[in-house]
Amino acid sequence: MSEQIIQPSTLYIVATPIGNLADISKRALHVLENVDVIACEDTRHTQRLLSAYSIKNRTMSMHDHNERQRQEQIAKLLQEGKSVALVSDAGTPLISDPGFHLVRHCRQLGLAVSPIPGACAAISALSAAGLPTDRFTFEGFLPSKSGARQATLNDLASETRTMVFYDAPRRAIDTVEDIVKVLGGERYVVMARELTKTFETVHSDTAENLLAWLQEDPNQLKGEMVLIIEGHKVDPNKIPANVVATLKLLLSEMKPKKACAIAAEIYGVKKNALYEYALAMKTTL
Ligand code: SAM
Repeated sequence: MSEQIIQPSTLYIVATPIGNLADISKRALHVLENVDVIACEDTRHTQRLLSAYSIKNRTMSMHDHNERQRQEQIAKLLQEGKSVALVSDAGTPLISDPGFHLVRHCRQLGLAVSPIPGACAAISALSAAGLPTDRFTFEGFLPSKSGARQATLNDLASETRTMVFYDAPRRAIDTVEDIVKVLGGERYVVMARELTKTFETVHSDTAENLLAWLQEDPNQLKGEMVLIIEGHKVDPNKIPANVVATLKLLLSEMKPKKACAIAAEIYGVKKNALYEYALAMKTTL
C-alpha cells in the first residue's frame, strides 16, 4: 500500500457507509483521522462513525442551510494550508447531499479537491439490480407530490437507459402506482431497500406485480430505498420521431451503415432495425 500522506490545502470528499459501518476504506479512516477539520452534514451523526473507529478529530457542520457561508470559511482554511474532509450522513457527499457549492467554489479558486471513494446507495443498488448498467441515468429524488411525480415520469417515458431514483419507502406504493399509470404495468422495476443493513431487500418484478407485493407487505414500506426502472424498450417496428430525424440528418452526410451505427449508439436502439428503416426510407425518398 502506498504511503498515506494528507496533502495540505486539500479538500477531501470522503464517502462513508450507507448502513453497515464496516463499509469504509482504510484510506477514508486515515483521512478522517488526520485532516485538520471534518465538515459534516450533521456533526452528531458523523460522531457515531468516528467513535466506532476511535477517531477523535475536530468537526464543523456544513449542511444545505449554511453551505454558502461555510464555503468561504473552508476555502480560507484551505488557503492557509489546512486540510479539510467533507462527509455527509451516509454515502458519497454531493450525491443528493450537500457539497456542490463548496466543491465548485474551491475548484474556482484553484484549490485541490480529492475524492476518497466508497459507498453510494445508487451505485450499490444498480450493481445488484440485474438491469442494464452499460448506460444509466441517476435522477435523484422523485417529487413527493403525485402530480409532479407523474410529470417527471412522463418526461422519462421514452428514456432507453436504466433509471435510478431515490425515494422514501413510505411513498413506495404511491410511486409504483404512478409508474404503472405513466410507464405501464409491464415495465420492470427493482426496489433496493435497506442496503447493507439487517433487512436488506432487493426485489425485482414488473411494476404491477411489485405494486401488489408492496400492498401485501407493509414491512417493505420502512427504511431507505432506491428504485430502479428499466429503460424504455424500443419496438424495432416503431422508430421514434427523434431517432428518425437524427438518422435522416446522418444519412445526408454519410453511408447508411455508418449513419445507422451512430444513431443506434446515440439512442440505444438496434442497428439492424435502423438499417432496415434506412433502406426502406431510401426507396421512398
Ligand atoms: N449521498 C448518499 C449516497 O451516496 O447514496 C445519498 C443521500 S440521500 C440524502 C439519501 C437517500 O439515499 C435515501 O433516501 C435512499 O433513497 C438512499 N439510501 C441511502 N442509504 C440507503 C440504503 N442503505 N439502502 C437503500 N437506499 C439508501
